[in-house]
Amino acid sequence: MEQKSEPLLEVKDLELIFSSDFGDRTVTDHISFHVNAGETLGIVGESGCGKSVTSLAIMGLLARNGRVNAGSIVLRSRRKPEGKDLLRLTRRELDEVRGRDISMIFQDALASLNPVFSIGNQVVEAVCAHQTMDRREAAARAEELLRRVGLPDPEAAMRKYPFQLSGGMRQRVMIAMALAGKPELLIADEATTALDVTIQAQIMRMIRDIRREMQMSMLLITHDIGLIAEMSDRVIVMYAGQIVEEADVYELFRNPLHPYTRLLIAATPGMYDAPDRKLAAIPGTVPENYTDIIGCRFADRCPYVTTECVKPQENREFSPGHSARCHLAAQIPAADTGAGAAGQTQPTEGVFAARASHQGASAWRDS
Ligand code: SF4
Repeated sequence: MEQKSEPLLEVKDLELIFSSDFGDRTVTDHISFHVNAGETLGIVGESGCGKSVTSLAIMGLLARNGRVNAGSIVLRSRRKPEGKDLLRLTRRELDEVRGRDISMIFQDALASLNPVFSIGNQVVEAVCAHQTMDRREAAARAEELLRRVGLPDPEAAMRKYPFQLSGGMRQRVMIAMALAGKPELLIADEATTALDVTIQAQIMRMIRDIRREMQMSMLLITHDIGLIAEMSDRVIVMYAGQIVEEADVYELFRNPLHPYTRLLIAATPGMYDAPDRKLAAIPGTVPENYTDIIGCRFADRCPYVTTECVKPQENREFSPGHSARCHLAAQIPAADTGAGAAGQTQPTEGVFAARASHQGASAWRDS
């Protein structure tokens, strides 16, 4: 019998709390997930669902008013295959892990780069932080990294300052810095959200190719369900601090079970939509103080809400690897998105068309 290897990253029962003048607020509610070696796990959901704070907790970069109240984050890297709980590391040990084992690409490259140092200076620093080499070798490595991430004239770019580069170029520099330590896990948190769609597609394609070349795993955090369809192997859908659905990417788009997932997919434009199709929108917003909600946290926005929904909803597995947190999950017909929009396409059509529109072709994933 084939032995199943343990996941590279395993997050268990993670509860994150933020304090403010109004008291403590739980932002993730005992969430558990894992990332296998070599795979891309997508985390999708609207702003305020707890996706980004989860990635910051993994990196040990929570804001000062944030804390981990419960749970563990175990990383099994090549350097420590037996695994270590990142929450129990000293500051120094965590510095060793960041960049070498796990790296992160942040959303705002301009805020993340230092405006008073040249690009070359910053990339060389990133190289030297993780590898033992002299400045000359590090400069050569930095130039090589900038070339790999698609900067047209890396030598000239090394002498420039962040404000002299476009948004797309700055983001490429951030990616080069994230790759400097040859990490095993790359976290991309809304890495291309601020860029226009064409540049976004180029950069995501480049990240995907580098990920394969370097055999990295990836945690892709985004609100863009089309991007999830393009890039991920497995997906978790988060809503109001909870995981509401988890599945293989094809299963999720062919057979979305949770009404929130269905609506997210229905809100995605597709290449083959009828010209008069109205885009579906999910009514309302993510509740601000969701920890006080006893029943389903999606209830005030859900088109299927019943009296049963006031009870706490558990995550149930409906088929191997496919779970959802909704008592009606298996009963809603597959074609019913609940969006009720005129000209609505089936979920699968919409999303795979979105994938094609991102890439120009939908076959790349299997290539
Ligand atoms: Fe909608 Fe009820 Fe399911 Fe929540 S539990 S998603 S309110 S049907």
